[in-house]
Amino acid sequence: MNYTVIQEKTKGFPSHVYTLNEHGKLISYQKANTHEIIKFKSPLRFDLKGRQFNTIVPYDQKEKYITTATSCTCKGFVFRKKCKHTLELNK
Ligand SMILES: [Zn+2]
Repeated sequence: MNYTVIQEKTKGFPSHVYTLNEHGKLISYQKANTHEIIKFKSPLRFDLKGRQFNTIVPYDQKEKYITTATSCTCKGFVFRKKCKHTLELNK
């Protein structure tokens, strides 16, 4: 599956990080400036109209995790609150 990870940059919106699946539906998001990732049981419709986003990391099909500068969905980060992926982005 192909995922797209984007960060809101629309004026007046919190800069949440959204993960969309290959159909453009929202499967999870990370609250702005937190490590909290909210996953949805079923993908939600996500309207991009009139909003602006930065693409964060093209989602590698081999990778099973999503990394931003402050969080990662890999097991290492979940247990230790740090991992090589986030360290790599913070170099
Ligand atoms: Zn990681």
